[in-house]
Amino acid sequence: MTGPGRYLPDPTEGITRVEDLPKPKSVRRSRNYPRRRCPRCRHSAYRNRTFTRTLHDLGDLAANRPRDLVITYSQHCCSRCGKYFNIDLSDLALANSHYTHRVVALAVRLVVEDGLPYRAASWHLWRDHRVFVPFATVQNWVEAGGKKSR
Ligand SMILES: [Zn+2]
Repeated sequence: MTGPGRYLPDPTEGITRVEDLPKPKSVRRSRNYPRRRCPRCRHSAYRNRTFTRTLHDLGDLAANRPRDLVITYSQHCCSRCGKYFNIDLSDLALANSHYTHRVVALAVRLVVEDGLPYRAASWHLWRDHRVFVPFATVQNWVEAGGKKSR
């Protein structure tokens, strides 16, 4: 006697500790290059060392789990002019951000376009996109964008 409109609560509803949520699936990405052109003098610069950065992305809905991009990227040192530079990741995320651009964009849309309060937006991101963003973080993003109406 159940139809498509039957209410099924999210299985994680009521979980209050982040550690109890499903573990993220790590997706490895490489931006690790042996050589790269120096942005200052165009000399081909060897890799100096590598770093790893983890970004929370929209979750994997098929697996019902969060998804982290684990990006290995190189730092280079130019032997001609002495400049150190890292591989650019700005297409994926802002500097110092733990979340990808698309998570931020979606969170801001939920508040600005759909008018959701911050806590509801945070819950929506988790429930429907399996990305955990504390509501205060959503609030910071929206306020930084300066676009919330009212
Ligand atoms: Zn150089």
